[in-house]
Amino acid sequence: MAFEKELKVAQLAVARASILTKLVFAEKAKGTISKEDKSPVTIGDYGAQALIIAAIKHNFPQDEVVGEEEASSLREQQDLSSKIWNLVKDAKLSDAESDKLLGGPIKSEDDMLTAIDAGNSAGGAKGRIWALDPIDGTKGFLRGGQYAVCLALMVDGDVKVGVLGCPNLPIDDSEPLKEDMGTAANDKEGYGVLFSAVQGEGARSQALTRGAVSEGHPISVKKITDVAQAVMCESVEAGHSSKGDNAEIAQKLGVTGKPVQMDSQAKYGSVARGAGDIYLRLPVRKDYQEKIWDHAAGDLIVREAGGQVTDIHGNRLNFSIGRTLRDNKGVIATPANIHAQVLKAVGEVLQAKM
Ligand code: AMP
Ligand code: MG
Repeated sequence: MAFEKELKVAQLAVARASILTKLVFAEKAKGTISKEDKSPVTIGDYGAQALIIAAIKHNFPQDEVVGEEEASSLREQQDLSSKIWNLVKDAKLSDAESDKLLGGPIKSEDDMLTAIDAGNSAGGAKGRIWALDPIDGTKGFLRGGQYAVCLALMVDGDVKVGVLGCPNLPIDDSEPLKEDMGTAANDKEGYGVLFSAVQGEGARSQALTRGAVSEGHPISVKKITDVAQAVMCESVEAGHSSKGDNAEIAQKLGVTGKPVQMDSQAKYGSVARGAGDIYLRLPVRKDYQEKIWDHAAGDLIVREAGGQVTDIHGNRLNFSIGRTLRDNKGVIATPANIHAQVLKAVGEVLQAKM
């Protein structure tokens, strides 16, 4: 199989980083980490980014990484930095061989900061570049709702490998989405799923664990014969996607079920496994440029599961022009057979507002 090692490293790195994010959440719940400020997010974000980049650089030293975070401000906050280091140095997988593949623990606090800084690639159309969102859906993370650890490998601007760790989604692919998916505290048994895809090889899922990864099992989007029966999913944050437009589009399509709201690329994972069907992300602000780390892994996983992902104009997402998707506006992810119908409804609703 192509990209076998890249896939394995990515899956294990995401799993190891998820151990850290879960620990941060637990510490927050205990009150060990302040809940008042954003520090759980900061600590989890930096820590997860360090763990993942260290694993990538250990295995593929020449590869670049487009990461959401950078460490310059962290270098000036010794307190915060050592707090993060205390969690990072102990985050490890329970399977020794897997942990060894990731290079074992990071050696020092300085190495941790160096790893975080290595997420500074400008992106682009040449070479091997990873796109990393250490905690996508920070609001969901704080709430105990949905968030995702997201990692994708692009080669010459094309996404080849995508991995999503979703600690608070059900393991069971056939479990329907519930309305409270974005708010329920799902950090418990039966939850935690690892989605992955390699271009041309399909999409798969498996339980997100501390141990070795398995082959998982294939997932696919739901076969929709009547679009009115589709389950829609959207952001929790009104500032990230226009809910009013979504509602009008749902009405046009005859969808009467309430949209399921959840943060993060858990939406892409849900569409890919057939739990959700239509993920709409309609621009709220004309000038907002979507970030590649918010979409690269999910885009591939949905497409490999039999879905189609475009922007509101029907264009494929273009990951080859830097850190943002400045050629695209919004996102429409659906099973391939209903994409044209959904795209048309989106066009009609948005056109009427121009
Ligand atoms: P979600 O959890 O799907 O609502 O998306 C979370 C992501 O939305 C974050 O990672 C941000 O990068 C991104 N984001 C921030 N501001 C906006 C905006 N105005 N429009 C769309 N996405 C945004
Ligand atoms: Mg994000």
